[in-house]
Amino acid sequence: MRETNDIPEELFNSDTQAPFDRCTICDCSLSDPSVDYSIQKAIRKVPKLQLTEVIFEYAICQTCALEERDKMSTESLSSIENYLKESTRDRRSVYDISFDSCLVTGKEISACNEYSLFAQCVGGQITDGTFPYAISDLAMDQIGELLSAETIDELDDFTKKHFSGPPEYAELLNPTRFVPL
Ligand SMILES: [Zn+2]
Repeated sequence: MRETNDIPEELFNSDTQAPFDRCTICDCSLSDPSVDYSIQKAIRKVPKLQLTEVIFEYAICQTCALEERDKMSTESLSSIENYLKESTRDRRSVYDISFDSCLVTGKEISACNEYSLFAQCVGGQITDGTFPYAISDLAMDQIGELLSAETIDELDDFTKKHFSGPPEYAELLNPTRFVPL
């Protein structure tokens, strides 16, 4: 059971090893208690080296998140919404096990080659009544199949624009991994 609203280290900015303090898109301050924001980190395992690496991460304020969502086709948005409604298990019970299994499919995160971690935050804390969660590669693949070509193009633009890692990675990014949920 989660006892504090502190942002877990797994969701820290991996460059600074501290919580995100600026919106990745508009650079507004995320410590402002009136700004709701969300964090996503996409992670993959490198079995050969027995390690995990962050392939993409961002923190975006609600205003920017809504603008990004607006760029997605209504068709894609409603498909995702229906998919989540039908598939998502009770978040509260899932939350007790935190990042151990996928919120949507229940797949064990330890069995995933790729997964994403998400949280809703405000004022440098997890928003009351919400829980950080993990999404498996399986759920991301299923969601990817629901997206229109137009939406995939938008997500591709978004990831290329905001990706700050090594350039050789940029081409490998799978845009369906960065769906704002
Ligand atoms: Zn912003």
